[in-house]
Amino acid sequence: MHSARRRRADEDRPTAGCPRRARVRHDGHVPELPEVEALARFLRERTAGRAVDRIEVGAISALKTFRPTPDDLAGGTVAGVARHGKWLDLTVDVDAPGGGPLHLVWHLARAGWVRWSDALSPTPVRPGKSPLALRVRLDDGSGFDITEAGTRKKVAVHAVHDPAQVERIATLGVEPLSDDFTVERLTELMAARNQQVKGLLRDQGTIAGIGNAYSDEILHAARTSPFALTRSFDAEHVTTLYRAIRDVLTEAVLTASGRPAAELKDAKRRGMRVHGRAGEPCPGWNGIPCGDTVHEVSFADSSLQYCPTCQTGGKPLADRRLSRLLK
Ligand SMILES: [Zn+2]
Repeated sequence: MHSARRRRADEDRPTAGCPRRARVRHDGHVPELPEVEALARFLRERTAGRAVDRIEVGAISALKTFRPTPDDLAGGTVAGVARHGKWLDLTVDVDAPGGGPLHLVWHLARAGWVRWSDALSPTPVRPGKSPLALRVRLDDGSGFDITEAGTRKKVAVHAVHDPAQVERIATLGVEPLSDDFTVERLTELMAARNQQVKGLLRDQGTIAGIGNAYSDEILHAARTSPFALTRSFDAEHVTTLYRAIRDVLTEAVLTASGRPAAELKDAKRRGMRVHGRAGEPCPGWNGIPCGDTVHEVSFADSSLQYCPTCQTGGKPLADRRLSRLLK
């Protein structure tokens, strides 16, 4: 939000063809599938086989479950770190009545992040106004914090026996990089309900893990209007969209993986071709700019970016009409 605004001093400069771009908050830093996947891999490498020393809660509001308690995970051994859509899942084998591992699952929302430390401060976490929502201490003194900046507290942490006990995980749609996601599956999803394709891509119950940023990138790669209606796509167009989903996400996962958590947000921003780049030249295709500039459509608390030449037959999208349509 504010940090995103600071990243380009010219962000609020009025630009022809980009209506209402002032006051719009760019959310290119919200972690989506590639960043969350990279975080999962990062945490997996560092936590595998370690014992959980204890889990400390800094923001009571972030913890959405009462039982099991964070204390129930203490003494257990980390069995793995998984990703479900935009959720992270720390699996801990514990010697508890009822058996089975426990899971600490969390969603970072807009302003949440994971901060790793090889040597955490030994001072116990005290609930308060710091951005620290939850701290996981491991037996070698390392560990990580789940943090949340700002005042709109949306980070959600659940301690559960099964991730499917979290409704928003149980209802996730298909993982777009899994073998289950095929052209046929996408064709079915497109036909199930006639809606704007941007909305379908972002709907977690349809396809898991894609948000505002990568849907902009995918639609640019597919040279498709964000407001194209899903039942208007012919077979060739669905295939083009399918390839764009797989290519954009695969490339982004490759770019993100192996980076430390602290670098992922900047790496994501740099990798964006149109998202968050209103007013800049469209990068075009195969290294040849198309000659147009990236345009923007603003909504109450977000915006999307696209290129008219590449995606909408050269016509800028009308802002007001489309704001109403997307609601
Ligand atoms: Zn273009």
